[in-house]
Amino acid sequence: MTVLFSELLVPGWAEGEDAKIGLDAVTGIYGDENAFTLPCHNSNPEVFFSEKSEEIAYAKSLCGGCPVKRECLQGALSREEPCGVWGGELFEDGQVIAAKRMPGRPRLNRELIGA
Ligand code: SF4
Repeated sequence: MTVLFSELLVPGWAEGEDAKIGLDAVTGIYGDENAFTLPCHNSNPEVFFSEKSEEIAYAKSLCGGCPVKRECLQGALSREEPCGVWGGELFEDGQVIAAKRMPGRPRLNRELIGA
């Protein structure tokens, strides 16, 4: 059984009117016997949760050929995944983001310094 990070954070998330779409539901669409042939089941899972842009791009490319990509993205949106690549998109705090912000000094806000 797969235990998602989201399941640990939100008790009872899969029950009731506001139920989320779990990964088991997504892979079940493809058939339980085929679930382990999905790209993310046959790759290093670290790349799906990497901080490196080249590994994130690689994870997204793996999702590109996935037969349950659309359902996976829908499920990740419903669960408000806190991080990782799901359905070919990168998530942060439940939102799809274009790219990880690189560490470093924040951009200078000229309005704050009156320049
Ligand atoms: S879309 Fe990506 S993360 Fe989702 S099941 Fe397919 S390979 Fe895995």
